[in-house]
Amino acid sequence: MNEWDYSIFWNEALKHIKEEISEIDNAMWFNNISYEGSKQNSIILSVPSAFYRDQVIQKFNVLIHEKLRELTGSKIEVEFNVVPHKETSPVQKTITKEKKVNAPLPQKRNPTLRKDYTFENFVIGESNSFAANACIAISKNPGKSYNPCLIYGGVGLGKTHLIQSIGNSIEENFENMKVVYVTAEQFTNEFIQQLKNHQIHKFKNKYRKVDVLLIDDIHFLENKDSTQEELFHTFNALYDYNKQMVFTCDRPVSELKTLTDRLRSRFERGLNVDLQPPSYETRSAILKQKIESMHVHLDDDIIDFICKNVTTNVRDLEAALTKLIAYADLLNKKITIEIAKEQLKDIFINPKQGNITINEIQRVVADYFNLSHNDLRGKKRTKAIAFPRQIAMYITREITEYSTTEVGIEFGGRDHTTVMHACQRIESKLKLDPSLDSIIQRLIREIKETRTIS
Ligand code: ADP
Ligand code: MG
Repeated sequence: MNEWDYSIFWNEALKHIKEEISEIDNAMWFNNISYEGSKQNSIILSVPSAFYRDQVIQKFNVLIHEKLRELTGSKIEVEFNVVPHKETSPVQKTITKEKKVNAPLPQKRNPTLRKDYTFENFVIGESNSFAANACIAISKNPGKSYNPCLIYGGVGLGKTHLIQSIGNSIEENFENMKVVYVTAEQFTNEFIQQLKNHQIHKFKNKYRKVDVLLIDDIHFLENKDSTQEELFHTFNALYDYNKQMVFTCDRPVSELKTLTDRLRSRFERGLNVDLQPPSYETRSAILKQKIESMHVHLDDDIIDFICKNVTTNVRDLEAALTKLIAYADLLNKKITIEIAKEQLKDIFINPKQGNITINEIQRVVADYFNLSHNDLRGKKRTKAIAFPRQIAMYITREITEYSTTEVGIEFGGRDHTTVMHACQRIESKLKLDPSLDSIIQRLIREIKETRTIS
């Protein structure tokens, strides 16, 4: 494996392409293309025959290049290798599979890893496929493909599940590799303890001699200067020897305050991937998987009812299910929709999303820029509209729980990656232009005020 690896972009591009072409074209052409490798600025794909290659180039060359360009932001060439009867890559298979249930679990060796946090138990949907596939790729080639990797996203979206899945998978497949998983809090406490005991060499020995270092919840390191310093040196020691590092954080590292610049730049090196709140389909797939693994039964209308009402994150989804099952167990009753409604009514309050709608945000932002509300919801891309639209998307992501997919739909039926790019663009502009921050803060205040009046 070389340092160029565009497999993740290819997988994502493939997903987008599949949405745009017919099922027949998909089955005929794309199910037989597999990712072979990458070179600088080019991807190598394998196809089963020369005829096949020529047809794909003729029919889909433009589309493939366009998607890769959208996702990577640069021009990526595509080379085809003819390899008769090659299977599709496992990563690609995982993407197309909505759900996998309870495959055999790895032998538990590492007591700090939960053995049920595996890729097999992780339901992949569009809100998490980029992150999940990056993690799968890492666990196949630790230290080689994406190093370091930072997974970020709100509470209950699967960060711990994914980072531990990497640990479990590597322990299973690379027996000689030493994997260490800790939360940033444990890392900090251990560091302080060993300092006190004058045993800091023990600490260094432990963390600088691993093959894979997994640190969960690095937002905990805010304001912990000496731990940050220690982690900085640990990072450098491991990085120089191509040891894999994965971190999780509850927000992008750019938003962590009081993180030293040099540590921030280390986290931002490599790959940063985000987890979004799951869509209805993914929530439903997750819930069904949990129900199956708990060997219980729930009628479809109850599953639908839960998925429609619990929109925040997977942890809340699990909490709703656990509550219902416990109730049914205790009273030895079958769960009906009436019981579900009654039992779950406290869980269903979601003030953040309930308060502010995308419509309201669009109205306030459009007013400020002297545009009509429909301009922001429309398809026009003139500069005068595009920038306010990006701001409105950014604000929506900041103050509501809508997923990028949902936001995209409300802004002229755009794709979730467009929303992601819009937010990134505003974030980078914010760094350069402090006056933009005050405009955005003012808009947010206004949106919230409009809300309380109406
Ligand atoms: P975080 O660390 O981001 O707060 P966790 O990894 O603890 O979130 O996830 C919360 C719960 O939801 C865990 O029990 C986890 O197994 C489950 N979970 C999250 N995402 C998924 C998913 N895509 N498929 C199955 N279970 C999931
Ligand atoms: Mg966690």
